[in-house]
Amino acid sequence: MSFKTTCPYCGVGCGIDISRSGSTLKLTGDKASPVNQGMLCIKGQTLLETVGTDEDRLLYPSIGSWEKAVHTIRDNFLTTPKSEIALYVSGQMLMEDLYVAKKFADAFGIKNIESNSRLCMYSTVEANKRAYGADIVPVSYNDIYLAETIFIIGSNTADCHPIVFNHIKKSKAFVVCVDVYETTTAKRSDLFIKVKAGQDMTLIDDLVNQPWFKDKKTLSIYSQGLTQSTDATDKVNALINAHIYTGNINKPGCGVLSLTGQSNAMGGRELGIRTADLTATEFFSTEQIKTLWVMATNPAHSMINYRQFDTLIVSDFTKTLTTEDADIILPACSWSEKTGHQKNSERRYLKQNAFLPPAGESKPDWEIICLVAKSLGLKGFEYQSAAEIWHEMDVDQHWSAQVKVPEIPVEIKSTNRNYENSINNGRLLTQWHGMSRTQKSKTLNEMTKQNPDTVSIHHITNAELFKDKEVELDRYSRQPCFKG
Ligand code: SF4
Repeated sequence: MSFKTTCPYCGVGCGIDISRSGSTLKLTGDKASPVNQGMLCIKGQTLLETVGTDEDRLLYPSIGSWEKAVHTIRDNFLTTPKSEIALYVSGQMLMEDLYVAKKFADAFGIKNIESNSRLCMYSTVEANKRAYGADIVPVSYNDIYLAETIFIIGSNTADCHPIVFNHIKKSKAFVVCVDVYETTTAKRSDLFIKVKAGQDMTLIDDLVNQPWFKDKKTLSIYSQGLTQSTDATDKVNALINAHIYTGNINKPGCGVLSLTGQSNAMGGRELGIRTADLTATEFFSTEQIKTLWVMATNPAHSMINYRQFDTLIVSDFTKTLTTEDADIILPACSWSEKTGHQKNSERRYLKQNAFLPPAGESKPDWEIICLVAKSLGLKGFEYQSAAEIWHEMDVDQHWSAQVKVPEIPVEIKSTNRNYENSINNGRLLTQWHGMSRTQKSKTLNEMTKQNPDTVSIHHITNAELFKDKEVELDRYSRQPCFKG
């Protein structure tokens, strides 16, 4: 018996074949997938080492039973002003989960619903809206093979989106990499340009004068090095402007591609998961929120201003730093136990298919939200399957390799910044995000090597690391970054 599914890690969206022979499972890259054509990076290849149960797997509601947990949440939601309740969801959740979370927030009147994409993608969303009038990613992985120059800025693609980098290396394009230190991507590019932190605006402005940019069919690729920086929205718009000024847009092999870090970060953007009140950062930096429901993310590790709440509810598949603080823990299904859709960096809808039964009493995120919604007397949450939700969503799954966008430059207000000292972080090829899944893989742990030029900070929370730093919000997207 065999199943097709999709990798749950990064936004590349690699297709996977799972075959079963007796009780033995085998995992390979899906050769028929237009995304990865059978290729998988080491994280995808070792996914089966992370499924099943271990001592950290959450199997039962922490306060006795589902009935008791749901009633306790219901009582809390009914006695807490709605402006003091927030839902903090994640790019790990599938389209169906996010759709139901948003439907629940709208039906119950919760204005504070945000995704952890607030920390990485919201500046890109804002930049796309300013440039194109909507959050459009106009290009696709196809353009990698049609470009003459691939300009990579603020992205260690080789380690963080390895299969996209495999495509880049298979193409004939001249590869230029800009970063603040010599990453794996920089080492494997044709030209590496090192910039100081905060000094990349001049370089972006000068692209219109570079023969390898202006005289070639150029595809630009970026990720968090651009978007998790001060003035992030302006930087993305400056890059799009450079494409408009040089005619490197709306043509095969030309345009700007943002690489999403999480498997369904693009899906959350598509569904418009966005606060009508406080941003996710402000859930933590103000005292307004008293009850926080965290789903499939680990803010105790990642949120720069993490704090305690009167009531913290956490749905997740495994123990994390955040579950240590939780008043109520709800066991959610893991990747291998979930069915639904995700949307990758190039806008393709991809399917995850469950190939194992839910561990213990765990449930898919959509079902957990429906239990709470129904206990609050809300109608329209009687779904029996993810397929029923997908049917209701009525998503247009048409995909095209390029999307035509307006060519009107946006005014840029930001300039370079000077920092005496700066902290730059990066990721490893063999681990992913807060490691809540990848650290379950023996192979990945054995392969994880400390670069002698770097300091490992995976065990330090962002709240600790940045405790003396001043947080600044990007002026357009309100995405958080640090001063100095
Ligand atoms: S590149 Fe990303 S989606 Fe593909 S196998 Fe690796 S982690 Fe999974």
